[in-house]
Amino acid sequence: MSYNVAIDGPAGAGKSTIAKRIAKEKGYIYVDTGAMYRAMAVYLLRRGIAPDDREGIEQACEGADISIEYRDGEQVVLLNGENVNPLLRTEEVGNMASASSVVPLVREKLVRLQQQLGKRADVVMDGRDIGTVVLPDADVKVYLTASPRTRAKRRYLELQQKGVTADLGKIQADIEERDYRDMHRETSPLKQAEGAVLVDSSDMTIEQVVERILSLCK
Ligand code: C5P
Repeated sequence: MSYNVAIDGPAGAGKSTIAKRIAKEKGYIYVDTGAMYRAMAVYLLRRGIAPDDREGIEQACEGADISIEYRDGEQVVLLNGENVNPLLRTEEVGNMASASSVVPLVREKLVRLQQQLGKRADVVMDGRDIGTVVLPDADVKVYLTASPRTRAKRRYLELQQKGVTADLGKIQADIEERDYRDMHRETSPLKQAEGAVLVDSSDMTIEQVVERILSLCK
């Protein structure tokens, strides 16, 4: 039986940083499910589909074949065979991913792929519905969060380091909008899964969060 660690939480809570660290410490595979929804968003944006065009998304999503590979220990997302990793981290793609991930057909396709990965290997998987839907029987479930202000500041600093000028207020507004959409959608809304341990990282260092989660693992 494979060992599964599920980490869910809102945008900017530090899930990917923490999940990568846990995976490295334990020698497990890190699965970034947000990247799969982002790859789907790239596909839809390329087709000129609007985020609120639900029917258009339903029709188009069938044409997107998404798979993942690991190269030098890094997850590479393939969209119809093309490595789209360099295109995934823009606000436009993030917003489209948040909008298109409410469509059940999109979710069914990607959840199936995620469940196969969890069965095949020991994984640390992060997302919004991992503990609730994808891996409800995961060995460890964590709900990782932080206040919207803290999350916006982290994102702001990240952008500053990349030399991108940003507006903290706008980032916080975007985060709050995305939280609302992720938490109030009909299919698989973001919430703390049954049996998940709540970790609020607002006043914790990365090290402290990693230690806390490692203490829950076998
Ligand atoms: O985590 P990340 O910001 O990369 O995710 C992008 C979007 O994909 C999220 O805002 C969320 O709407 C969606 N998502 C999801 N379920 C997941 C992972 C991400 O709905 N398991």
